[in-house]
Amino acid sequence: MKIETVKVAGMHCASCAYNIKKVIGTMPGVKMCDINIATEKGIISYDEQKISIDQMNQEIGKLGYSLHSQEEKSNKHTNHTISDDHDHAAMDLLRSKEDKLQEIAELKKNTHFVFPVALYIFLWMTWDVISHYTNVLPMFPISMDVMNKILFILATPILFWIGKPYIVGALRFFKYRVANMDTLVGIGTLVAYVYSTMLLLFPEIKAALNAPEGLYYDVTIVVIGFITYGKYLESTSKLKTGEALEKLLHLQAKSATIIRDGKEIEIPIDDVKIGDVMIVKPGQKIPLDGVILEGSSSVDEAMITGESIPVDKKTGDTVIGATINKQGSLNVQATKIGTDTMLSQIVNMVENAQGSRAPIQRVADQIAAIFVPVVLVFSVVVLLAWVLIGSQFMPLTQAFSLGLLAFVGILVIACPCAMGLATPTAIIVGVGKAAQHGILIKDAESLEKFHTVNYVVMDKTGTITKGKPEVTAIIPTGKNSSEKEVLQYLASLEKLSEHPLAHAIVSKAQDLSIELLPVKDFAVLEGKGLQGTIQNREYIAGNTAFMESINLNVDNNIIETFSQQGKTPVIFATQEEIIGYVALADTIKDDALETVTQLHRLGIHIAMLTGDHKNTAEYIAKQVGIDTVIAEVLPQHKAEEIQKLQKAGYIVAMVGDGINDAPALATADVGVAMGTGTDIAIESAAVTLLCGHISKLPLAINVSRATMNTVKQNLFWAFFYNIIGIPAAAGLLYPLFGIILNPAIAGAAMAFSSVSVVANSLRLKTKKL
Ligand code: ADP
Ligand code: MG
Repeated sequence: MKIETVKVAGMHCASCAYNIKKVIGTMPGVKMCDINIATEKGIISYDEQKISIDQMNQEIGKLGYSLHSQEEKSNKHTNHTISDDHDHAAMDLLRSKEDKLQEIAELKKNTHFVFPVALYIFLWMTWDVISHYTNVLPMFPISMDVMNKILFILATPILFWIGKPYIVGALRFFKYRVANMDTLVGIGTLVAYVYSTMLLLFPEIKAALNAPEGLYYDVTIVVIGFITYGKYLESTSKLKTGEALEKLLHLQAKSATIIRDGKEIEIPIDDVKIGDVMIVKPGQKIPLDGVILEGSSSVDEAMITGESIPVDKKTGDTVIGATINKQGSLNVQATKIGTDTMLSQIVNMVENAQGSRAPIQRVADQIAAIFVPVVLVFSVVVLLAWVLIGSQFMPLTQAFSLGLLAFVGILVIACPCAMGLATPTAIIVGVGKAAQHGILIKDAESLEKFHTVNYVVMDKTGTITKGKPEVTAIIPTGKNSSEKEVLQYLASLEKLSEHPLAHAIVSKAQDLSIELLPVKDFAVLEGKGLQGTIQNREYIAGNTAFMESINLNVDNNIIETFSQQGKTPVIFATQEEIIGYVALADTIKDDALETVTQLHRLGIHIAMLTGDHKNTAEYIAKQVGIDTVIAEVLPQHKAEEIQKLQKAGYIVAMVGDGINDAPALATADVGVAMGTGTDIAIESAAVTLLCGHISKLPLAINVSRATMNTVKQNLFWAFFYNIIGIPAAAGLLYPLFGIILNPAIAGAAMAFSSVSVVANSLRLKTKKL
């Protein structure tokens, strides 16, 4: 079984995507086929032994579509290395942009020819109507007879040259019984043209039918004119929806200055190897992710993390490729290249998310799939109804004439285009906008779920606090132990732990130049503490629960004092007695209070979830205004706490660093990971906030809310056009008001429904959040 992403050419609307899916999905050997109209890409999983992309192309080629394997291109290159991949992804994107630009140029040329004609005729039609019913304007100076001949001359090239895709679409329907938007427009305009030409060339028929003076050439011209113009507008704006991703791609540095054999040389970015030392002068772009070996500076990371204030960096700090070194000169050792760099991963994630399908789209897709055939049948039914029922109330010829008008009108107004574009265009803009602010969203589903969140659970250490605690007090309680001794033994033990508390204790010992001792039989007890043997004696360190579990008597006064001050107590003991207590204080993040305030303003309840002491947690929660504290929870029970909230009916987002809260992140409706350093891929997270900026959380929720609002508006308008348009075109208003929607106006409305949907999605880009 092979899963392949392909580019899809020849699609115009959601029913195209459906047609392709239907044909390929039912071919033997194909397991799954998903086509995205907005990204013009498809994912197909198939058995290579049974079927190939070429064979699929043969089938859908008949319908005017084609699939383009992306592998073909990259395999042509001989030296296929990992770093090539990124390049190809970028090249592909840029190449497909070129294709699109060419398509747009073509549409523009056509528009220049047809739109002025359509507009002129549209005005003439309006003049005609006004002069007929009012005295405001004199009768149009050219007689109807002459006008019909002029229109014939104009309509012919417009239909058969500019409107060729629609004619082809109509013919395809008669040949293969597959219909899309082109089919509807094609049949509609062709019928109007053929009918008019018949009456023009054979006046006897016209007389026999007792047909009205005006023919329907204007319908053909105006519909094709407006739709061509609409498509042109739609393609240009659709291109703009993807700009965020393109900007990210262009951030990639082209070359790097590295030291080889003691000399500085400039080499292409793809030739840099892990371990190479890159020289970055002030004002230059840092070429790739790495660690500073020498120098200090401040770095502008706004393009990646969305953080506008430059970040101070010194020797030993990590830097992100594509960020800008402000003032100092830096020697940076490359740690990631090719597809592993942070930028590459971001681009990849954004691209995947933009191409993914939001659950809300399902309804629109289902409707779009049956819409075209239903409309075709409906239009014929309406024509028959006019002839059969209408003729009871008016002469048959007039009923037929109006029925034909209704038939054409329904075909041109009922296009599922806007429906198909409603969701994906907004998702593309929303995901891109989030990425520009340093918020990475895994897929459209996560984005959709995010907007319903009404309960946020935050991990304490590293999420609300900086995760860099410091030792503030040491109280020795052993028979003959000193402060120094407690620190020496405890730090020796903690040296082997990765916990933030451990780092703090070890660095305190180092500050005081205390020598550490060797440890044997070391073990970590997650969420409780640790144990090990020093100089043949067993020691343990950890929290109250841990001490009580082995029947040691904890001095509650000391614990109370520490925890009331918001400090985390760590107890150090042997199996027999407690030797000392250590207090550790972590600082609250600068943006924590503001974040909580903003979340409250969004109507969201906030809880803190931690393994720390209840008092300590409460103290910190109070400082930042958190509503609920869930403390002293073992790592393995964190997911259960989330489930409890879900059972109570909340839609829960869990924010954590993914270290011991991965199961909780995965359990939550939306898992939000605090990104640190240059790793962005936290598997269990639906959303990643780059560089640990908790203040991005309300922004992320706002982006998702705004995006989903846009989707809903889009869907509303897309359906609204049809709900109002179809009955009006069918002539439902005729018995009441004597009006029937002119097909030319129907065509214009249809064209602008798609344009307005894409334009509405684009509004998201500039929306202030
Ligand atoms: P959090 O929920 O804040 O991430 P953890 O689940 O990692 O907390 O740890 C819970 C508690 O267990 C800590 O507050 C501490 O009391 C104790 N603990 C965990 N690891 C250590 C350690 N290495 N040294 C001392 N105490 C520890
Ligand atoms: Mg933690």
